[in-house]
Amino acid sequence: MALLEEAIKEVKIIKNFIGGEWVESKGEIIDVVNPATCQTIARVPISTSEELDAAVEAAKEAFPSWRATPPLARARYLFTLKELLEENFEEVSRIQTQEHGKTIDESRGETRRGIENVEVACGIPTLMQGDYSEDVATGIDEWIIPTPLGVFGIIAPFNFPWMIPLWSAPYAVATGNCVVIKPSSEVPNSQTRLAELVEEAGFPPGVWNVVNGGRTVVNGMLDHPEIVGITFVGSTPTGRDVVYKRCGETGKRVIAQCGAKNFMTIMPDCDVDRTIAAMMTSFFGNTGQRCLSAANAVIVGDDDTFYKNFMDKVVDQTSRIKIGYGLDESTQMGPVRDKGKKGNILRYIETGIKEGAKLRLDGRTVNVAGGYPDTCFLGPTIFEEATPDMKIGSEEIFGPVMSVMRVKDLTEAIEIANANPFGNGNSIFTTSGKSAREFQYNITSGNVGINIGITAPIATFPFSGMKDSFFGVLHTQGKEAVRFFTESKVVIQRWF
Ligand code: NAD
Repeated sequence: MALLEEAIKEVKIIKNFIGGEWVESKGEIIDVVNPATCQTIARVPISTSEELDAAVEAAKEAFPSWRATPPLARARYLFTLKELLEENFEEVSRIQTQEHGKTIDESRGETRRGIENVEVACGIPTLMQGDYSEDVATGIDEWIIPTPLGVFGIIAPFNFPWMIPLWSAPYAVATGNCVVIKPSSEVPNSQTRLAELVEEAGFPPGVWNVVNGGRTVVNGMLDHPEIVGITFVGSTPTGRDVVYKRCGETGKRVIAQCGAKNFMTIMPDCDVDRTIAAMMTSFFGNTGQRCLSAANAVIVGDDDTFYKNFMDKVVDQTSRIKIGYGLDESTQMGPVRDKGKKGNILRYIETGIKEGAKLRLDGRTVNVAGGYPDTCFLGPTIFEEATPDMKIGSEEIFGPVMSVMRVKDLTEAIEIANANPFGNGNSIFTTSGKSAREFQYNITSGNVGINIGITAPIATFPFSGMKDSFFGVLHTQGKEAVRFFTESKVVIQRWF
């Protein structure tokens, strides 16, 4: 099938967006490489702490008049932005595929999920209404005003370059705050395009800023006295040990959504065909690089015939997944983001073999459609006879690797999932209401799937997480994001 036209056609040095201006960075410049073609598609700066300071200063300056802009008027900017995002839907989707490697349909899904957050934030005039109580004591009334706080930092990972800042930024600005976004330096292009569309929508300078870079920018945000809060999405070591810890020390409110190891529990009474269809997207969608990707398939019961038939079908369907460049619409799985990540996944596969798991499908060598270099490509891998104490059964691999385990009953399936340090997204496949209820009640996981391989919750729901997958109290998206980005100012008045 013919390739779709690429959206990024020439290699440009990406600029920062500070105070409504596109500003060249003085920092080191590194290449952004398309993992499918191995071609450089952009060059991105590793910005300096002075550049972060300039963005925070611009945001701080913009805050008083943005805060005083009526919520309905702020919503109008978001409505305009939403229209621009729709007009540019296909272009921004193709940018994601070029910079990240995911298939064009996965990118379109990501674009849609991002836009949905803008749409929800358009409801801000009602979402941030306060509460009022008359006569709390004789002649005294009391009310709550949800109040914006100032400048927020938004720190993003590589795996959903477009959507993840949109879990936070629309709510932050809708509530009257200003933001500084730091995209992952591996995939900065779609956030640059988003900021161009924010500019076109006419947002006042300084409300929405983007500073590209790495640790210097993150550390600068965490220490910056003018930044009041942070939303972070990324790995557990960074989220827990760097971001959450430092926000505690510097007194910032924080949402830190972190890593995962997700268990998919398969009951013998499941609808086999639908379960396997869900497994294909859940384990191998986004090439396994989703915090809600399934990692362990836990098959319940001692029925060897069921197990054998089920696994034969899983292996058969998995081995037919078409791998290639995501701009070919027939591609079902793209590359992983870079060769370092591929190396990490290959090491896990070697470890699984050494640990004694049975390699049923070996993705280490791969047939890439279209003849692209296999530098960042991997095939899907399936291990059977894995156990929850093996590294492949317990640690986040973040690649297209399925570890299959067998357990005697649902209680054991829940026990092994709960014993894992992560608690992001676990699911069950069953036609029994009792089993579904038992699973959702007892599982220690922020997102729970019943007969569904888990995807990001819709924008009106919080993106949850438990244990080592989440640090904080409130979550991104919807009403919880509105709470996070506002403080309840309580006013008490005596009427003389
Ligand atoms: P990462 O932790 O390496 O990077 C995330 C961000 O932190 C990036 O912007 C990066 O520049 C910065 N960073 C990295 N190391 C840092 C350090 N030592 N000090 C300061 N800043 C640092 O994560 P990643 O590899 O980009 O993303 C993949 C991870 O994100 C996976 O663990 C995945 O499960 C997780 N994730 C979680 C969710 C969720 O909602 N729970 C969603 C998507 C991804």
